[in-house]
Amino acid sequence: MKVKIGLEIHVAISNTKTKLFCSCPNKVVKEPNSICCPTCIGLPGSKPRVNREVINSAIGMASALNCRFPGEMFFSRKVYEYVDLPKGYQVTQYELPLGREGLIQIKSDGKLKKIRITRIHLEEDPGKIIHVGGDITRAKYTLVDYNRSGVPLCEIVTEPDFKSPEEVRLFLAKLSSILDYLGVYDASREGALRVDANISLEGGVRVEIKNITSFKDVETALKYEIVRQGNLVKGGKKVERETRAWNSALKVTKSLRTKEEESEYGYIYDGDLPKISLDRSKIEVIKNKMPELPDQRFRRFVRDYHLPEKVAESIVSEWDLAELFEQVAKGIDPRLAGTWISGYLKKTLNWHGLMFRESGLKPEWIVSLLKMFKAGKITDRNAEMAIRRMVEEKRKPEGIIRKHNLGKAALDLDSVVKKVLDKNKQALEDYKKGEEKALHFLVGQVMRETRGQADAGEIRKAILKLLK
Ligand code: ZN
Ligand code: MN
Repeated sequence: MKVKIGLEIHVAISNTKTKLFCSCPNKVVKEPNSICCPTCIGLPGSKPRVNREVINSAIGMASALNCRFPGEMFFSRKVYEYVDLPKGYQVTQYELPLGREGLIQIKSDGKLKKIRITRIHLEEDPGKIIHVGGDITRAKYTLVDYNRSGVPLCEIVTEPDFKSPEEVRLFLAKLSSILDYLGVYDASREGALRVDANISLEGGVRVEIKNITSFKDVETALKYEIVRQGNLVKGGKKVERETRAWNSALKVTKSLRTKEEESEYGYIYDGDLPKISLDRSKIEVIKNKMPELPDQRFRRFVRDYHLPEKVAESIVSEWDLAELFEQVAKGIDPRLAGTWISGYLKKTLNWHGLMFRESGLKPEWIVSLLKMFKAGKITDRNAEMAIRRMVEEKRKPEGIIRKHNLGKAALDLDSVVKKVLDKNKQALEDYKKGEEKALHFLVGQVMRETRGQADAGEIRKAILKLLK
């Protein structure tokens, strides 16, 4: 069945000192309601002032998403009554967003696919609601923390260009990688990236899934909706046009309310805030200061370091790994560095849920380990083991190899081979009679005995040498 999916993504901009319209710090603190001023919560007489740093960050984001800019921008009030918004409206952009008609390319099934960005605009985050004792329908009571009020958000809206939950996953990975390169958001911040998804099956109406706060959950929630809507249709029932909430604990969506139209909100121009001109020269200045983005870096890695495309793709997807690679490639053959960084190192870091920058490892350590590997002082298998131990123990490879006896130097291969041949006379006879399998068996026995300190090729050679 054909599916159509569109996304609305809220990104918390975290690289500014202060919030969007006041001088409260833009950060996360434990103590609730400790960083909110009269402006954050819209007390009478308070007056918002625009933080230019936020505008610059957002212009950078819109440029990275290949958006067009209007000549000027302004803010509007989206009027609605809710406990997370004590002033009764959210300051946002409606009529004229900061950026329009952007584009991101993803690679799906080996093919490039364009996802159109409808618009990207700035708005303030409302407060945070905490339901105690269950979800919204079951909570005993609800708390609200206004620390988040006024934190700058960038809302990114896509066209319904996605044909599957997998494409959505690829897009979000690409988007978060771009944001990471720009340094505008902090993935570890709670709610740093919140996704709402619109999904419809062919011929059906649109259902909106609200507030999916974890990256992995977006794909799961969409898959769930496809099954749910599909079953309704099969059973001869109608899919309702509605808003549903994702329940991440139960992994289901639940009906929240029938969907309101954007036009049902009252939007009015916010006269407290100035119009801001976005002339070309100003945008050019910001564009020129922008860091290299993942796509550009991918092309450079393939061109300058001759990395295979798959390897380059895997490394540039994380800014952190790309930086590491460039460091390591100064000290060792870049292709070797690429293979190990995109392979075993990435796997080990992912396993521990760590970024390289949080791992306690140093680029020089990777260089020295790979140098030892290249010089034949450690086997493939034990170099992998060394990486694992380095991540666990945060120690230099030399120390790790000594402690866990992973190097080849300590090994007297010939005497181990002799011992194994003595113990396995039958296999030896079989091999002499021409059974190739018996040799594999003997190699395996020696490998076990040496706990991976020697590789299969070397062992084979050592056995054959002894048999001469
Ligand atoms: Zn404030
Ligand atoms: Mn919004």
